[in-house]
Parts: sequence; structure tokens; C-alpha cells
Amino acid sequence: MHIKTSAKAVKADLLVLPVYKTKKLNVSGLTKSHELEAQQAFARKIFKGDIGETLILHNHKDSKALYKTVALLGLGEEKDFNLHKAKEAGSKIASVASASKSSTVAVSNPKQDYGVWMAFAGYLNSYKFTRYLSKKEGVALNSITVVGENKNSSKLAKDLTNTKNAMFYTRDLVNTTSNEIGPKAMVEKAKKLAKQTKSRITVLNRKQLEKMGMGSILAVGQGSKDGPYMVTIEYKNSPEKGQKPIAIIGKGLTFDTGGINLKPTGHIETMKQDKAGACTALGILKYLHETGYKGHVIFAIGIAENLIGSGAIRPGDIIKAYNGKTIEITNTDAEGRMVLADTIAYTQKKYSPSHIISLSTLTGAAIIALGSDITALLSTDKKLTLAVLETAEEVDEPTWELPMYEDYCKKTKGTVSDLLNFSKSIRAGTIMGGAFLREFTSGTPLAHLDMGGTGWTDEGKPCYPSGATGVNIMLVAKTISKL
Ligand SMILES: [Zn+2]
Repeated sequence: MHIKTSAKAVKADLLVLPVYKTKKLNVSGLTKSHELEAQQAFARKIFKGDIGETLILHNHKDSKALYKTVALLGLGEEKDFNLHKAKEAGSKIASVASASKSSTVAVSNPKQDYGVWMAFAGYLNSYKFTRYLSKKEGVALNSITVVGENKNSSKLAKDLTNTKNAMFYTRDLVNTTSNEIGPKAMVEKAKKLAKQTKSRITVLNRKQLEKMGMGSILAVGQGSKDGPYMVTIEYKNSPEKGQKPIAIIGKGLTFDTGGINLKPTGHIETMKQDKAGACTALGILKYLHETGYKGHVIFAIGIAENLIGSGAIRPGDIIKAYNGKTIEITNTDAEGRMVLADTIAYTQKKYSPSHIISLSTLTGAAIIALGSDITALLSTDKKLTLAVLETAEEVDEPTWELPMYEDYCKKTKGTVSDLLNFSKSIRAGTIMGGAFLREFTSGTPLAHLDMGGTGWTDEGKPCYPSGATGVNIMLVAKTISKL
């Protein structure tokens, strides 16, 4: 499933012709009969060229024809067309291919390298999670070829193919249910990828975590027989001499009941997604390996299962984290930051990274603040912030910075403990998550990406069918090359 490019027309089941919204329909490369058909549809306003609008033209009967089906795909007004619109329109390639039972697609390039992004979007939207279906239906999309190259097309096509593969890997992991991927199984997945990417892996189990005084991650996992674990994977490919590594940290809650502060019906059903941060980190590792990224990157993931039961932590319990700070657990559902706290402190101490980027489905408050399309960024370093936000625009993965407002941040302090894991009086929950994590970095620049709203979609949206999204792989992988 590669994105291919070609300067000349190629044979395919389906040809997709992108068209801008204009007064006069302008299509080329069609047979006379198809052109007539398209012009009639346009004249009758059946097809107007609005963004994402599609029109499937009748099939060729001639078996020697280059295409079995031709479809017009609207791009909207040419003056408004940009990367975001290209992806929105391109994602429709999946549904047109599926409706016309096409496994090979050619799409003509509208301008610059947008055709490659459209092919990428088409693939992203063609993803189906069929692992638990006894009968798999439909025609699988096998290839998309962008016709009409510019000089960057083939390089971009390779890069976006690798991105797509990493995103599908992450989606598969996140979508796999918690009875199949518990903490131990998650460790096995990490081991497998470490082997594939020729990276060194270290796994700390419960006993070792106890010995090392990692009271924060242990507290979260103590209600489950399985786990917790802390996994670090070291990716090293001819790094520059004397350069410190970059750390990418992921939250891997294989299931989150909320603990004794139990999540209600309507919120608990999709909590297998609470491992999305860790799965995204692994997706980034896969991408870096496949693209031959040169550098030194530490991947650290905290893995646990937040269950209820006689062993589980109670609201009001006070524990001691790896860095010696005590935490009062004011809410057992604010467990992600506790897993990350020890993971960050341990990684910081062991590897002295230059930067830490953490990925997690940390707060539901991120949905209230930014909805389900925009990832929240909390950062302790201006340069790092700029690198993340600039990359977010370049790859069209919307990200917005929330402030580390000091008057809020100081409310993470407790009265009978050093810290509170949840500060009820401050309703800016996403900011408080970032403020808490900052306590464990020992001053190392931190960019914390809260994908509580963006890691998962119930209904699906352009590029992201329902389920795990795989966002932030591209964002982080491209950001680190700027640091
Ligand atoms: Zn939780």
C-alpha cells in the first residue's frame, strides 16, 4: 500500500479528477462521452465542485480502457485551496474507491504536491479495523498513484507512505481491546517493535519499580494483577557527537476505569484508548526507523491498568513518587499524570535529555477547551513551543498552546502532601495536568501534548475513520528534527 507517483497516465480501476469550483467546468483527460456526462451534471447543478463533493461517471464497458470508473472530486474555490482542504477532499478517495469497488486508483495532481497529500488522506480514510470480524467485506484499497509529478512528489510520497504505515500501526494497537492488550501484552508489543527497529529495550516490572521507589506509577497499577511496567527504548542512529538525546514519553493505560472515582456509563466504554500516548510513541519509533532518522531518541512508556478492587488506591491516599515528592490522590481518575510523573523523572535522571515531549490522553477537559480536532500543548520552553506549533501547521495536525498560568500552577501544591494529583478548585483541568508534570522534569524543557480530545473519534471525520486516529506521530517526528 504505497503512494506512487507517475508523470504519465497509468492504468487503474478508478481515475479521480480533482476540479475547482468554477463557472465553467474544466476537465481534461476524459473520453468524449465522459466529458459530455460531466458537463451535463455540471449544467444541471448535480455537481458543483464544492469541497469534498464527488460524482461517479458511468463505467467503461471496454476492457481495454485505462480506467473502469472515473470520478470528479470537488476542491472548492481555487483561491481558498490549501493543505487542510487537500486532505479534506482527498479523504473522499476512500469512499469513492469503496463505492466503485476499486482497488487501484489514479488521482491527477491539482497543483504543487497536493495530489500526494490527497492520496495520503485517501489512505488514512480507507483504514478499517477488522481484527474481530469473522467476515471481512469490501474491496481493499491497494494502490493510489498520483499522476502529474512535481520535483518533490516522489520524496513526499515515500515519506507519507511511512507516516501512514506508522499511523496504521498505532491505530491497530489502540483499537485492540483491553482483554487482549493488558500491561504485559503491551510490553510484548514494545519488545517486538524494539527488535524490528534494532533498538535497546529495558523493562522494569513491579518488583523493580518497588525497589526503585516509583510509588506514583505503582499506586496507579496496584488494583490490577497485571503490571505496572516502565519500558524504555533507546533509538540511536549515528547521532551527532556530544548531543543529548531527546525523550518521548507516552502514557500507556491499557484500561482506565477511573478507579474508585469510577467513570460513568458513556465515558468508560472506549477506555482502551487510554494507551494512545504510548502507542503513538511506538508509532514514532517505527517511523524514525523506517525513514532512517539520524539521532538519539529515548522512548519511555509507563504502562498500567487502572482498575477497582480491594487492592486499588483510595481517594485521600498519599504516596511518594520517584523524585521524592509526595502526592495526595484527590481523584483516582487523574492517574495518567501519576504514571507520567515517574516515567518523566526516571527518564530525566537516567538519560539527561535535552527536551522531553510527552504524549497522553490526559484530560477530558482538553475536549471542553479545544474540541476533538485540536491537540492541547502545554510547554515550559518558548523555542520548543515554536518548533511544535510551526510543525503542526506544516503537517496540518492542529495544535494550540494553553498557558502555564502561574496562579493556577501553584494550586498543584497540597496542604498535607507536596502535591495534589487533582485540584478541584481550578477548573482548567488541561492546564493543571501540564502544571503537575512540570514538577517532575527538574527543569528540562517539556512539551506536553494532551490528546484527550484528538486521540480517538467516535463518529469519524475526514482522514480519521471512527476509532483511534494516529495523530501526533507526524507532528512529533517532524518536530524533533528541528530541535
Ligand atoms: Zn483516568
